[in-house]
Formats: sequence, structure tokens, C-alpha cells
Amino acid sequence: MHAICITCGTQFPATATQPAACPICHDERQYVNWNGQQWTTLADLQVRHRNVLRDVEPGMTGIATEPGFAIGQRALLVQTAAGNVLWDCISLIDDATIQAINALGGIRAIAISHPHFYSSMVEWSRAFDAPIHLHEDNRPFVMRPDPAIEYWTDETLALMPGVTLIRCGGHYPGSSVLHWADGAEGRGALLTGDTIMVVQDRRYVSFMYSYPNLLPLPASAVRRIAAAVAPYRFDRLYSGWWDKVVDGKADAAVARSAERYVRLIEQG
Ligand SMILES: [Zn+2]
Ligand SMILES: [Zn+2]
Repeated sequence: MHAICITCGTQFPATATQPAACPICHDERQYVNWNGQQWTTLADLQVRHRNVLRDVEPGMTGIATEPGFAIGQRALLVQTAAGNVLWDCISLIDDATIQAINALGGIRAIAISHPHFYSSMVEWSRAFDAPIHLHEDNRPFVMRPDPAIEYWTDETLALMPGVTLIRCGGHYPGSSVLHWADGAEGRGALLTGDTIMVVQDRRYVSFMYSYPNLLPLPASAVRRIAAAVAPYRFDRLYSGWWDKVVDGKADAAVARSAERYVRLIEQG
């Protein structure tokens, strides 16, 4: 069986029995299920859940699982002339999802911000014959290694024309974002997972070491994230959940948010 942790959604390598523990949840950025470690499988998810696809903006479709599972994120399918990129990933994949995505042109490459969204990435890669691009600095957190995973090492990776991966660090050492130059009707979009998180006041974003445990990042890390994306223009910013969107002058919102954060943690 390939066990899937029900708290973080990570799928594990084939084992005869359930793994003893989930290292992703034992990490202080996550937490162990309040009822103790629990596992499921893809086959079980396929019975109890389904995926919904929703147009997010022209050329980009969101994909999420209902009822919500694990962290409840939604992935984004960016459709370009050179092929489609799946940004971030979810645990459930089924025939209906594969058919719907193939009708949109399939998936040429998968790129994932950080380990909390690695989910069932190998299943997605096999279904669409697509390589998975992960930052090398997150390699220790890959629970199900696979030959389809290609590790990139620089600060940026030009994935295809107009699509650039940017390593920001912070939440995880290899936490990354995706810049889509043609997004937001040509004004640029930044897809961030939780490397950069849109907050309730959607004119702002935040940057955390742990979101569930409310552990902040040092000022140096926040400055580094802001500096990594500063060369790019993006009017919209999408973090990893529906409605977590900065809609308008998002590049300025990131700079403004980083300044505010640093000012607050350096007070006193
Ligand atoms: Zn877990
Ligand atoms: Zn995370």
C-alpha cells in the first residue's frame, strides 16, 4: 500500500504495513493528528472525495478536493502556448480529474512550492507523464522519491516561456513561487503556495515558519523573500487556497507587507 497521512496529505512509498509515523507532521511546522497518526489510501480517497475544477482567470484553472482533505489547498493549472504547468498538487487524483485536465491540454510539467503540497505528486506525474520540479533544498522532505522528480538548484528556473520558478526560502529552505508573466491579463501573476501567504486583509501577505503553530520568520528571511520576487512584476498574487488572492498591485503589496512585518518584529 501507499499510505497517505490524513493530516498533511503526504503519500508514502509502498509498504506492507502502515508507516510508524509521518515525519512531515512531526516537524514543528506541522502537528500530529489530535487523535493520533492516521492513514488513508488513494483508493479510499477516490470513494469519499471528488475534485472540482474552477476557472480562476483566463488561462488558469484551480483544482481542489471536496469535501476538503488534509490541508485543503487547491492546485493551479497554468495554460501556456508551450504547454500546461501544474503548480502545487493535491492528494486526490481520479479518472474524472484526468479527463477534465486532458480536455484542457494535459500537464507538461509539475512544480510544487514546498513539502506540505507534495501530496500524491508521483501519481499525478504518472497520470500525465510529466516531470516534477522541486527545489534541491527540499529534497530531505520528499517522502516518496521517484525518478520523475527533477531537482533544481539555482535561485530561479526558467520552466518555459513566461513561467519562472523563484526560490524564496523561509517556510522551508527550498520554498518557491511561480511567476507567470502572461497572468492577470498580461500584468503578471505570482503563485505562491504558502511561501507568501495572503492574509484576511487581502491588501497584505505574510510570511511564517509555521502557519498552524504561528511561528514567525526572522527579519533576514522576510527581507530575502521580498528581495527574491522584487525583480518581477505581478498584479495578482495567488496563495494556495481559494480566495487567498491579492487582486491588484500585488508586487507592491508584498514589499509593503515585508516592511510592516520587519518593523513589528524588530520593535523593542
Ligand atoms: Zn503527515
Ligand atoms: Zn506549508
